[in-house]
Amino acid sequence: MDFLRSLGMEDLPEQQTRTMHLMARHPEFSLQLGFDACCACGEQFTSSTIVDCPQCQRVSYCSEACRKQDADAGMSCSGEEEESAMGHSSIICTLLRLCNHDEAVNEETKDDKTTQSQLEKDTTAKEAAMDRVRSEFESYPATLANVILQGPLYSIHNQHKNLVIHIIGASQDAEFWDSPCMMKQQQNVWNAYADALAELAETKRLDTIELLFVGPECPKQNVQETRKLKSAEGGTVGDLMVKSYHSEYTTELLQQEQLSKADIVVFHNPGFTCPDYDWTNALAAIPKGTPFLLTTNTELEGIADCQYLLDNDLIQQVPPMLAEIFGDEQVPSANPDDEKGPFFNENPFCGNRVRQSGTMANDLFVKNRWMLGGVLASKSQQPPNKRLVTESSRGNSKAKNPALI
Ligand SMILES: [Zn+2]
Ligand SMILES: [Zn+2]
Repeated sequence: MDFLRSLGMEDLPEQQTRTMHLMARHPEFSLQLGFDACCACGEQFTSSTIVDCPQCQRVSYCSEACRKQDADAGMSCSGEEEESAMGHSSIICTLLRLCNHDEAVNEETKDDKTTQSQLEKDTTAKEAAMDRVRSEFESYPATLANVILQGPLYSIHNQHKNLVIHIIGASQDAEFWDSPCMMKQQQNVWNAYADALAELAETKRLDTIELLFVGPECPKQNVQETRKLKSAEGGTVGDLMVKSYHSEYTTELLQQEQLSKADIVVFHNPGFTCPDYDWTNALAAIPKGTPFLLTTNTELEGIADCQYLLDNDLIQQVPPMLAEIFGDEQVPSANPDDEKGPFFNENPFCGNRVRQSGTMANDLFVKNRWMLGGVLASKSQQPPNKRLVTESSRGNSKAKNPALI
């Protein structure tokens, strides 16, 4: 990610593994390190002598000694910071200070007067924060449009002039951009989806792209919008139709509302294995053979979602990148040369906004940073390739599987 490289960082140091030894010692361990327990020693806070990092104010310790130890953990013996540094390194601290800016411009922390007045004086920092917040919201249409356009897996049946995409488990504050920062920037969400999807309509000669957002966290008032899809030259290349349903995604809903059958289903950060939401009915409502695109915030979440799909007999092949993790015991892994096969990789269309994990204060993530794609199918079924590979124009061989970017 360019933004991280500009800070001299190749990757986000995912530090969740640091909690492993604590969990081994205490299987019931559920403390949030750096929030309700010391980020260095893991002791739960009991007294009021909590020490916060003075710079970012986002990581807490039981004592000054622990704070110093965590800051030093980010330094090598020579005093230089290591790239894979653990602990509260100065880079982590810098990124966490940017989290304060991002939350302030998006009015997520209304009481943070210090950051707000700081940003009023520093317009460059304020604009950078607004750009980062916008880039995260724009990652929803950008990912959708670009991955479907560039991923050979999603080859579109040429006789279909109408592409139907179901975005399942959509929510108001994610896909719908219900955000003060976006309001201030006068960014209209459906114009952005139309801008992002125009090239797809033009390239695949589609008349209509239908986006159906379904989920209990969709706006209570169902949305119905249409937009013209315009080419770069300004001509109309098709129509975008948007509808939302404040509802669980179930077979009953699909029948009652007579929703068009999905050509592709999309899940943004579903967390299939999280206990707070049961995906059984939603996944059962999707016909086998339907291509899916799923994004997650972290690699671990992507692996967990892949595991869930395997355990529930919903995928026939494991993406090549996950072959080593899952082995060939449950289902075979796909051939890495098969451009139409399933993929798991970093998402080049995620935004620049770095967020702080809620369970481990030094852990950072970017929304929609990872993506998993394939076709929902039971192991007992024949590979569904025939249903997908029907594109007549073979000239577009340069199109790259996003998995390979
Ligand atoms: Zn401590
Ligand atoms: Zn700090």
